[in-house]
Amino acid sequence: MALAKATGFVIRAFDYQESSRIVTLLSSRLGKISLLAKGARKIESQFGATLDLLNLIEVVFYEGKGLKLLKEATLIEGYPGLKRDYDRLEAALQAARVLNLLLREGQGEGRAFRLFREFLQELASAREGLRLGPLRLGFKLKLIDYLGFGPELEACASCGRPLARDEPLWLSHQAGGLVCADCRAARVQAQGRAQTEIGLREVAPPLAQAWRASLRFPLGRLSRLSLPDELIKVGEGLLDEFIAYHLQPI
Ligand SMILES: [Zn+2]
Repeated sequence: MALAKATGFVIRAFDYQESSRIVTLLSSRLGKISLLAKGARKIESQFGATLDLLNLIEVVFYEGKGLKLLKEATLIEGYPGLKRDYDRLEAALQAARVLNLLLREGQGEGRAFRLFREFLQELASAREGLRLGPLRLGFKLKLIDYLGFGPELEACASCGRPLARDEPLWLSHQAGGLVCADCRAARVQAQGRAQTEIGLREVAPPLAQAWRASLRFPLGRLSRLSLPDELIKVGEGLLDEFIAYHLQPI
């Protein structure tokens, strides 16, 4: 079996058989990879705490047909400060779960890796009053944009007409983004059902602006934008719904 190397974040880890663990990494070069760490739960295991969630590690592994077998793991960054803060830890673990859900084995180009690294660095920064909501929202929006199913925010996702900053808008899961009032009416009529059933959600113009800003600005600037908490909360909830819709098996 050939040996290979990778650098990545531990985004998932679970017990396997009697004494082993399976560890999933988001790596910089190979995307999402899962590795079998034999004997990782034994007290005398060479891996120790190196395979803990969110750690950035370098691994050497055997490439096989089935599961890749972990040979060595070295800790590069463990983010101890982040892990001591409950809210920041929760945000980081949630992002790791989203990554694991959205990426298939072998998928996840360098951009997803760099985005997650930036996200963890922001969470680990000692900055006072760091607002987590805008960071979480920005992370998710950028991630699904990279993966090719981010919501269309600039033009109507149904008729393609450029959207004005202050017009009433709806998020259509099915159309894949914001839709104008005409298209929303046409959709409701065509389906003959309540708009909530067909995944149409009203979006206030300031929320559409908040989404656009979250996509445009780097993560490091998002917590400093003057976006009200309530708006961020609603925006994140709608985005989670949108992601869940697109994750449904076809
Ligand atoms: Zn339209």
